[in-house]
Amino acid sequence: MRYDYDVIVVGGGPAGATCAWFLGHAGLRVLLLNRGAPRASGSVMVGQAKGSGVLHEMGLAQELDQLPSLRRCRELLISAGSGAAMRLQGAAGWRLCDRQEFDQWLLRHARRVAAVQEPWRVTDLMRADDGRIAGVVAYDESSGLSLAVTGRVVVAADGSSSVVASRAGLTPWRSSYGDVAWRSRWLNGAPTAAIEYHVVHRPVVACLWRWPSRDGADALGLAIDAPVQRKISDPQAVFDSILERHPHLRERFGEGRVVSPWHGWPLAMARTPHPVSTRGVVAVGDAAWAVTPLFGDALDTALLSGRLAARVIAGALECGAPTAALAGYDVLLWRALRAERYAAKMLRGLVRRRLGMELLVRVGAIRQGTAAAAAGAWRVRSGREVVAT
Ligand SMILES: Cc1cc2nc3c(=O)[nH]c(=O)nc-3n(C[C@H](O)[C@H](O)[C@H](O)COP(=O)(O)OP(=O)(O)OC[C@H]3O[C@@H](n4cnc5c(N)ncnc54)[C@H](O)[C@@H]3O)c2cc1C
Repeated sequence: MRYDYDVIVVGGGPAGATCAWFLGHAGLRVLLLNRGAPRASGSVMVGQAKGSGVLHEMGLAQELDQLPSLRRCRELLISAGSGAAMRLQGAAGWRLCDRQEFDQWLLRHARRVAAVQEPWRVTDLMRADDGRIAGVVAYDESSGLSLAVTGRVVVAADGSSSVVASRAGLTPWRSSYGDVAWRSRWLNGAPTAAIEYHVVHRPVVACLWRWPSRDGADALGLAIDAPVQRKISDPQAVFDSILERHPHLRERFGEGRVVSPWHGWPLAMARTPHPVSTRGVVAVGDAAWAVTPLFGDALDTALLSGRLAARVIAGALECGAPTAALAGYDVLLWRALRAERYAAKMLRGLVRRRLGMELLVRVGAIRQGTAAAAAGAWRVRSGREVVAT
């Protein structure tokens, strides 16, 4: 069979763009099809350990630091329901960046080595006679035309509701995974200077986070533990109720208000390793459902998985046996994520219990090695300060 492309990447988010970039640089003929739905803007955390390694390999780490919206936040603040809190200082800091800007920047780099078509939405997969996936059917949303394109390998990079992964049968997660997070903006007179995570157990087990944004309205997030989340449809009511029940948070958040509608999305979390490749298809980023969200680095998982998939695909195409060789991606990906998956599982178990979270924060505070922390706990106060009591 003659193929139009070596690889068709479906989705132009961080995972698809990274994968296409590496494949293009490996000399392969790559087509990237992106529906290009408007991306919610706002500040996101990106380029931490895992992702930073990939960006360095691409030679783009320094360029990322030059993006207009990029800033480094040097303080991480984590609090428990009682108000006990610990503060971590990062010498290099954590990168925060505008999401739209980051995605467009990465896709721009992918365009240099791959053919990119937008706004094309993949609606189905094509199979060869032996059942292997050999291409996609895509719909051009601007002209209304449909097109069939063949490729030796198809990469599912179309996000957590991936059509490609679903059609290829890579969806063991659907029934058992279900966390959703909401995101909004918080405006008050004293924007935060730290990346803040506040874990509470009343009225539900939830994590409320807030971090700085370029325009002064903090990014605000709310993730609720899975079994409870299914019964909750009004994040604003949950947010209000959390502030009402936690005086230290009321004080910390001050007299502000939520200034944009809550936007919810599924967290593509991996609880156990599951297949991420099948005959002619590999899934990357959220489409692979491999995220360990406690570390706040879903974007970095997207970059890493895109990089690993490209390495396996390039090798598989070179050896001429793509179907069998693609399984190597499953091994590589789950091995790369094993340590953090275990750590996230343990942490999640601990954080879910009120006393576990208290213990974690207080031990963390003591490990900061200050006399004040050892004597009591850190308490979060309004404004920018964390003070020892
Ligand atoms: C509001 C919000 C805030 C977030 N904040 C953070 C954060 O601060 N830090 C962090 O690490 N993670 C964050 N995440 C998670 C992070 O965005 C995802 O893990 C990451 O985007 C996954 O990248 P991806 O490339 O796999 O998928 P996506 O970024 O979802 O990209 C998928 C791409 O595929 C395209 N597509 C979808 N369907 C099709 C189709 N049928 N045909 C063609 N193209 C298609 C879409 O248009 C999109 O361009 C956030 C997510 C959201 C929604």
